[in-house]
Amino acid sequence: MALTGTDGTATSVAMPSCPGTHTYQRESGRTRAMDSAARAFASLPPLFTFTVDVEIHPGGACAAAPTRRLLDLLEASDSRGTFFILDDVARTDPSLVREIAGRGHEVASHGYAHRHLATETPECFRTGMAGARSRLADLAGRAPTGYRAPYFSLTPAAGWVPAVLAELGFAYSSSLLPARNPLAGWPGAPRRPFRWDGGLLELPVPLARFGPVAVPFLGGMYLRWLPGWRLKALARNWAAADGGGALWSYCHPYDLDTAERLGWRADVGRFASLMLWLNRRSTLPRLQGLLEGRRSVPFTARLPELVAQAPIWRPAP
Ligand SMILES: [Zn+2]
Repeated sequence: MALTGTDGTATSVAMPSCPGTHTYQRESGRTRAMDSAARAFASLPPLFTFTVDVEIHPGGACAAAPTRRLLDLLEASDSRGTFFILDDVARTDPSLVREIAGRGHEVASHGYAHRHLATETPECFRTGMAGARSRLADLAGRAPTGYRAPYFSLTPAAGWVPAVLAELGFAYSSSLLPARNPLAGWPGAPRRPFRWDGGLLELPVPLARFGPVAVPFLGGMYLRWLPGWRLKALARNWAAADGGGALWSYCHPYDLDTAERLGWRADVGRFASLMLWLNRRSTLPRLQGLLEGRRSVPFTARLPELVAQAPIWRPAP
């Protein structure tokens, strides 16, 4: 059990619920990594939305313990987040969904299966999503209004998805990466919030330029791997270019899970599997730094303001 104190000594804390040997570094005081992250993000606005994609990792990580660690982290800064929950998690660990909702966070949907939208058909997607939404509604006590596509895979090949989501009762989506990207992207889409025909609000992934590349810098491997000076430059870049947009971060429970064994993920390949497994200890202090002097509120609390500012966007046919 290893806790890192202000004097640098380490003890540890086991998190509840997950079988096995999951342990977490818990900061009982400030650390240099946390201070460095706080400085890197100083140019970002004081209000944002901390989002989590809650899924069962193919490497075998349990979602429950690190998800509870994230709930604690948010609540320590008087923040609440938006948790996009995959149907697999809702079916296998319903108590976790109840707990997220009961602690005042937003329960939203990460889909009924973790696969690219381009591989879906409208019929299967409609049926699967209706079931997933209903399950979350039963567990959380209210129907989810938000959706996030696996892999941010709302691309031109899945342009029919927003209409189906609106038909099912969703109010917003946070599923589109408005640039070229190795996994999925919609180059040319707006970088600020917009509405689809039919009214669904879309909240694109916040991007900042790194030379010719647009980087979704506030989440996943980018947040974990980029050096502090680069994150600082990207945060300034975002504030200068998109400061009036909607800021949000994203992470996964496995990003914190230092106990998971290395496994090869067929969906991302061996190199990305290794990168997803290494350097997980850097995630927590960076998230702490992001929450320093900044407060997260769920997307649902920001919707009226975001919808009022969002123009309709019609992709070119
Ligand atoms: Zn996912």
